Amino acid sequence: MSGAIQTELWADACERLRNRLGSDSFTRFFDGARLEACDEGRALITVPSDFQQWWIESNLLDELRNAVSCDGLSREVRLQVAGAGAQNGGALPTPHQAPAAEKPVVTRNTSVERYRRRVVEAGLKPEYVFGSFVIGTNNRFAQAAAMSVAKAPGDNYNPLFLHGGVGLGKTHLMQAIGHKLLRREKRVRVLYLPGEQFANEFIEAIRRNSLTPFRERYRRADVLLLDDVQFLAGKERSQEEFFHTFNALLDGQKQIVLTSDRPANEIKNLEPRLVSRFEWGLTAELQPPDEETRVAILRKKAEEWGVSVGDEVVHFIAGGIRNNIRRLEGALTRLATYASLSGEKITGGLCERLLRDFLQEEKRSVISIDSIQRRVAEHYDVRLADMASKRRPAHIAFPRQVAMYLARKMTPASLAEIGESFGGRDHGTVLHACKRVEERMQGDSALRLGIARLQDELSRG
Ligand code: ADP
Ligand code: MG
Repeated sequence: MSGAIQTELWADACERLRNRLGSDSFTRFFDGARLEACDEGRALITVPSDFQQWWIESNLLDELRNAVSCDGLSREVRLQVAGAGAQNGGALPTPHQAPAAEKPVVTRNTSVERYRRRVVEAGLKPEYVFGSFVIGTNNRFAQAAAMSVAKAPGDNYNPLFLHGGVGLGKTHLMQAIGHKLLRREKRVRVLYLPGEQFANEFIEAIRRNSLTPFRERYRRADVLLLDDVQFLAGKERSQEEFFHTFNALLDGQKQIVLTSDRPANEIKNLEPRLVSRFEWGLTAELQPPDEETRVAILRKKAEEWGVSVGDEVVHFIAGGIRNNIRRLEGALTRLATYASLSGEKITGGLCERLLRDFLQEEKRSVISIDSIQRRVAEHYDVRLADMASKRRPAHIAFPRQVAMYLARKMTPASLAEIGESFGGRDHGTVLHACKRVEERMQGDSALRLGIARLQDELSRG
């Protein structure tokens, strides 16, 4: 389609949209939108922010499709953020601004510049410093371990092995070690990279016959931060290479920090000698944050980004998104972007609408009540049907309470939803069950252990 016709078509389409939506809504959601490409059956439209893309896709796609079919040809519509790949890119203001890198102790400009340059050279993100890492019961031990390593690298905890689910702060914590060292020591060589990159560079080095510089690069590091080592699984030659890198660094008393999405001995297809090396030093696990920590993280991010969000909003997000701090941030970004785009005050109802896909995603990613009931029934040797039945003998009632307790702990379901899944009981019954189980656990270490084990098995799927 010629440029002129395309321009005309888009002008017509905009006119229609403006009439349908009203001027205010049109401006709010289509400001900066462009018809990038168009043929007889398709139209590609770019918008300045991912928020606009998401909003239009979820709410206005039919309107838009009609509008760009105004010449009588019915077109499928695809939306994209302008400047491909840019997450919040474009002309609109976004509330998400990275906080400045950790303040260098030396304040002369040249030192600041030098520190910044070294941060980039090391492969670190400026915002992943200790100062922006919120400590909670879920990560206290890992944070303390990382801090000790930053204070005395190569000394005691070598390697430091951090593991835990996606979005729980492994990369952040690992990079914070690098920042702290760069800030303190003028000459320390910090090198951060994902495990996958190590494997790719290694293959590339073989292909180009340049193994020597490859090896030197890694073996010269004083601190090697290798992220997501589970990606070495099944790559035998990369593992062999890393085995030698590892030994060379440890022999030279250099510090190694590793992260993985699971404990070393659970990484399938990882050579036993690497597993045992990974377990040599100190292992620390990051767990999903509790509600208090989630609230603290949201408040901290809002402050860093310079956006104001009310308590209601913070609690809404913290209540709905429990298992991934990256998603927690994503939800906050979206609400803050919406607030700045629309000028509207954000309320509970609006949160629910704006965050629908986040909340659904969260539900999918967590353990289902159903799987808890199955596992608990199996464990206590009662029938699955008894989880929802009205029968009350103690040998059934107690397992049922345990399952409710676990559902409360491990899923985002509300008390009412849990009650519903257990044969339409009310929320008071669920609350009572949780209390009862907690009380009994206090005085009964075997029960405590048994439940911890159940929880562990469930979370491993
Ligand atoms: P992982 O590597 O475990 O997948 P990341 O380190 O990438 O997780 O963390 C995901 C996001 O959550 C990052 O933006 C990080 O800054 C943030 N984050 C994680 N844990 C914390 C925390 N305790 N305090 C503040 N931000 C956190
Ligand atoms: Mg990571």
